[in-house]
Amino acid sequence: MRALCWTGRNSVDVENVPDPKILNGRDAIVKISSTAICGSDLHLYDGYVPTMRKGDVLGHEFMGEIVDVGKEVRNLKVGDRVVVPFPIACGNCTPCQNELYSLCENSNPNARLAEKMWGHSPCGIFGYSHLTGGYAGGQAEYARVPFADVGPLKIEGDWTDEQVLFLSDIFPTGYMGAELCEIQPGDVIAVWGCGPVGQFAIRSAFLLGAERVIAIDRFPERLKMAADGGAETVDYEAVDSIPETLKELTGGRGPDAAIDCVGLEAHFPGPLYAYDRVKQAMRQETERPFALREAIMSVRNGGIVSIMGVYGGLVDKFPIGAVVNRALTLKSGQCHVQRYIRPLMERIEKGEIDPSFVVTHTLGLDDAPKAYELFKHKHDDCIKVVLKP
Ligand SMILES: [Zn+2]
Ligand SMILES: [Zn+2]
Repeated sequence: MRALCWTGRNSVDVENVPDPKILNGRDAIVKISSTAICGSDLHLYDGYVPTMRKGDVLGHEFMGEIVDVGKEVRNLKVGDRVVVPFPIACGNCTPCQNELYSLCENSNPNARLAEKMWGHSPCGIFGYSHLTGGYAGGQAEYARVPFADVGPLKIEGDWTDEQVLFLSDIFPTGYMGAELCEIQPGDVIAVWGCGPVGQFAIRSAFLLGAERVIAIDRFPERLKMAADGGAETVDYEAVDSIPETLKELTGGRGPDAAIDCVGLEAHFPGPLYAYDRVKQAMRQETERPFALREAIMSVRNGGIVSIMGVYGGLVDKFPIGAVVNRALTLKSGQCHVQRYIRPLMERIEKGEIDPSFVVTHTLGLDDAPKAYELFKHKHDDCIKVVLKP
C-alpha cells in the first residue's frame, strides 16, 4: 500500500509499504477514506519528538471502511464505516474502566521508554513515535486498528467524511479542553491558539455555556474563523501585553479559565522568544512555553488553566509562584477520545455543530509532502488539511 513515511527532520515521503494484517483477535483493518494532518504531526515533522525512525508511517486522525476484522471483534463487520480515536485503549484496565482512555496501561508496548521520559507511560497512539508504541499511522491507504471492539465509532447516515472525521481527535480534544475549565454561566474563557484544536475549544466553550470566549492568535484567517464561531479576537502582535489586554477586556479580573491550544512551538514577539528558541535548539529546554506562561499570568485568581497544546519534555521560567500564590489549577491530558466520541456525534446529529467548517484544503495522499509544507507554513490561509488516499 501507499503510506506517508517520516524520513527525517522536515522530510516525509509517500512510499510503498507492506499492507497491514490482523495480528490479534481484537484488531480490525480499515481502508482509509479520509485522514487529516494534525498540529501535533508538525512536532514530529519538525523533529521535536524523539524516537522517530525513518520509515515510520504518520497520521492519527483517520476514518474509513472496515475490510477485515479479528474473530474477537463482534460489534463491527466488514463494510462498516468507522471513525477511529487516536489513543489506542484496551477498555479493560483500570484507567480505561474509569474512562481515562489516553492512560490505558495495555496499549503501549514501549512503556519503558515513556517511563524514562515521563515517570509513567500513557497509552499507545497511532503514528506518533516509538515513545507511544511505534504504531503505524493512518496517513495511508490502510491501517491496523488494535482493540477495534472498543475504539472505533460506527457511522450511520449519510454524513460526509469532513463532518465526522474530526471526532478522531481535534473536536474531542478541543471539547475536553473546554470541559476541564468547569464552565459556569457568565464565565469568560480565553483560548490561546486558533489552529484546529483552538477552533473546537472555542465552539465547545460556547456549547458548555461560556458567556464570552476571547481567542488569541496572529493569523488573520484563523482569527476570522474564531470570530465566525462567536469569539472576540486579539492579535497578539498588535498589543503590548496579552495579560494586560485580557484584564482590560474583563473588568480587571482576568478570564475565568484559559485553554492553551498552542503547545511547545509557540511564537512570541519579544526577547524571551530568542531565549527559549536558543535553549530549545541546544536541547537544554524542549519547549517554548509562551502561551502557557501567558495563560497562567492572565487567568483570574483561583482560575483554571487547561493545557491541550502538546508538550513533550521540560520548560523553564515556569511561573509556579503565580500558580501557588493565586490558587490556580492546572489541568491537562491527551484527550480520552473514546469517552467523548459518541456524545459529540450526538451533538453533530442534533445540528449543534458541523465540524467540517475547519477544513481549508483537501489533497490526495500522494500530495502529502506538499500538504505538510502548506500546513506548517500556513500558506494559502491553510488551517486544516484533509488527505484522500
Ligand atoms: Zn491530532
Ligand atoms: Zn486500557
